[in-house]
Amino acid sequence: LKSAADLAAIGRRRLGKGVSRITELVWERGQGSWLYSTDGQKFLDFTCGIGVTNLGHCHPAVTKAAQKQCGQLVHAQCNLGYHHPQITLMEKLLPVMPHKSLDTFIFVNSGSEAVEASIKLARHATKKQNIIVMQGAFHGRTVATMAMSRSKTIYSAGFGPLMPGVFAVPFPYHYHHRNMSLEECCDDAIQQLKILLKQQSAPGDTAALIIEPVLGEGGYVPVPKAYFERLQDICEENKILLIADEVQSGFGRTGKYFAVEHSGVRPDIMVMAKGIANGYPLSAIVSRKDLMDTQTPGSMGGTYSGNAVACAAGVACADVMQEERILDNVNARGAQLTAGLEELRQHPKLAPLIGDIRGLGLMIALEFSEAAPANFASQVQQACIRNGMIILTTSVFETLRFIPPLTISENEMRLGLEIFKRSFEEAAG
Ligand code: PMP
Repeated sequence: LKSAADLAAIGRRRLGKGVSRITELVWERGQGSWLYSTDGQKFLDFTCGIGVTNLGHCHPAVTKAAQKQCGQLVHAQCNLGYHHPQITLMEKLLPVMPHKSLDTFIFVNSGSEAVEASIKLARHATKKQNIIVMQGAFHGRTVATMAMSRSKTIYSAGFGPLMPGVFAVPFPYHYHHRNMSLEECCDDAIQQLKILLKQQSAPGDTAALIIEPVLGEGGYVPVPKAYFERLQDICEENKILLIADEVQSGFGRTGKYFAVEHSGVRPDIMVMAKGIANGYPLSAIVSRKDLMDTQTPGSMGGTYSGNAVACAAGVACADVMQEERILDNVNARGAQLTAGLEELRQHPKLAPLIGDIRGLGLMIALEFSEAAPANFASQVQQACIRNGMIILTTSVFETLRFIPPLTISENEMRLGLEIFKRSFEEAAG
């Protein structure tokens, strides 16, 4: 058997450099809130594989459903007919949709692929081309979605020419506009959108505006409710479809089933992935039947679309969400997490380094202040890893994101907060 160091050495040599890694560990197994590496170490997982394993690693009910489906039918290719897990999954999802008009689905495999499907739907249905995105948005790494991702230049640098017809508007990231009130910051962002529609992308050419209800990779910033509702009005007035990218914020992460429910916004199209199946590759778009009916049969889908094992896992996830009252735990543990981070504002040494603490449910960010040294978020992250907790940064600002499993216990959260505090102290020197 090869040692962990030998495996890592092969990985380093044989895996393409374009995929980044925050550790050189070799992962062996995961259970609940914990990840185990082959060298015998154990880590509290505050990443959930970027918001995917929301019900904890290898949730027994999800594992059982997937195992059963594995022995029955794995690849019920979507063009051949229907399959039971997919139909059941839609029936489970319908009652939790943020609005009853969202009743028609297309399944694919990843977040990016679902975002692309939403763009294809919007363009085809409206017979318009342009897409408006938010500054700081992340929608994926495929050729179309990298043109729509504005959280970091590495996603698009050197890969051009980019898909044309994508325009970005400022996101109301209030922490970076503290000279204004939140209201003024939102007014300004709305004004910029109105100007864009006059100067650069005429409403008659604009198919859709896509937004993450909580800006994810761009910094974990919830979209302010009043701004979101005005955005919806502008879209309606200009016959621009509103697409909510709930890839990271969906499936209970923010304390509601979908993050748009924190506002009165009713997206025309919603994009879902990650938490939908707790780690099995599955994603979907949902929209109104009249929009979906504009599509030509065969223009969407793909070989692996709506895989039966992934759908069976998705059905089990939907059941667990209800049976284990997951949303209640998200709200309780989210309050514990936020309170624990806020307490650090009393810490004489750490307080000056804390800028903003924000988020919804268990989608929380701590942004370090301008007093923190360069790369401070990565230094705290590495200290957390040394101390037994895996955590992620966000894109260009010095921010850490806290995305523990939605099933995390009170004790595990307390431990996570302790590890974070110790790591923050170590990095602060
Ligand atoms: N949209 C959002 C909001 C995301 O957070 C991500 C992934 N982090 C994606 C799209 C892309 O998903 P995938 O990596 O599965 O293609």
